[in-house]
Amino acid sequence: MTEPVVVCTFGGTSQAGQDETEAALTLGRRVGEARGGELRWLVLGSAPVELDAIARRHAVVAVDHAEDAKLDTAGPDARVEAVAQYAAETQPRLLIFNQDFDSRRIAPRIAARIGATAVMNGLGIDVAETGGLHVISAAYGGDTNVVYAPDPSRPCVVALMANAVVAEPAGGSAAPPETRSVALDLSAVEERIEVLEPARTEGPRLEDAEIVVAGGRGLGSPENFKLVETLAEALGGMAAASRPLVDEGWIDSSRQVGLTGKITRPALYLAVGVSGATQHMAGCAAAKTIVAVNTDADAAIFRHARYGIVGDCLEILPELIRAAAQMGAG
Ligand SMILES: Cc1cc2nc3c(=O)[nH]c(=O)nc-3n(C[C@H](O)[C@H](O)[C@H](O)COP(=O)(O)OP(=O)(O)OC[C@H]3O[C@@H](n4cnc5c(N)ncnc54)[C@H](O)[C@@H]3O)c2cc1C
Repeated sequence: MTEPVVVCTFGGTSQAGQDETEAALTLGRRVGEARGGELRWLVLGSAPVELDAIARRHAVVAVDHAEDAKLDTAGPDARVEAVAQYAAETQPRLLIFNQDFDSRRIAPRIAARIGATAVMNGLGIDVAETGGLHVISAAYGGDTNVVYAPDPSRPCVVALMANAVVAEPAGGSAAPPETRSVALDLSAVEERIEVLEPARTEGPRLEDAEIVVAGGRGLGSPENFKLVETLAEALGGMAAASRPLVDEGWIDSSRQVGLTGKITRPALYLAVGVSGATQHMAGCAAAKTIVAVNTDADAAIFRHARYGIVGDCLEILPELIRAAAQMGAG
């Protein structure tokens, strides 16, 4: 077996959805094609319903599946041990994770266990003429990108940020993947951290929303966030927020957009009372259309917006809600 490229996903409590999985498989396939390494998909814990169809869509050569009750909990130790045992057997050249709450905790630990380099905040991977990897990663709070050339004599672990790569199926008809049940011995693993409340994963995800209405500190008070929620509902979209609103407890962290929040890619992103700081834009710059409402005509958000309204969001939001309700009724 040539040094494979392995995309690793988790069942159970993991947050990464199918789109992210397919984005990671797309990236893994491209790297594999460029370097001549086969693409394997390591699924730890309960498998996605469409496992076979997804694997075929991305020309995965082999699906390696490991199930163990310890893998379906939110504890990191069993997952680190599982991937380390798997890597000892398969000797991957590259291990790709979707960057979410879980993989942020475990990817660097796995890299340390298997003697790999680790790159977090991954945006993409190019293969140099020499066959070495060039890993592109967001740095300085999303202000800039860095390109790393990891030591080619070691494996490399990359955590891929959501929406950094657009999932694209392989062309042609791929052969069905070889499916293998991986035997792991996790009997000695005892989680050192007890997870009292796993990250919530139910309900619609901001990352998948086609319409997002995001409120910022310009709203002035938590009560006014209701206007954002009402408009989002009237438009059939989801309400979101800038980080200060989450930090101040106006809304829970699952609604934070930005570098340290969710990366969205909606058709419409309506930002009200949001300044447009780089760290916020990291989570919405890929929106097809950005509309901004801000009292400050020089606010950075207007540099990104296709349509802008200079004005008080507390006056404009009720107007937009009325218009959206009329559209809905019409
Ligand atoms: C490492 C790091 C990571 C970060 N990650 C994130 C992240 O993931 N997401 C994120 O959002 N931020 C993040 N931040 C914070 C970020 O730098 C900004 O501080 C934050 O985005 C600002 O939020 P805001 O635009 O709501 O508030 P402000 O910067 O206070 O802007 C409020 C805006 O509202 C306007 N305004 C005021 N009154 C009104 C009104 N009545 N009507 C209309 N407009 C009005 C003002 O003109 C202003 O432009 C991060 C920072 C760091 C250092």
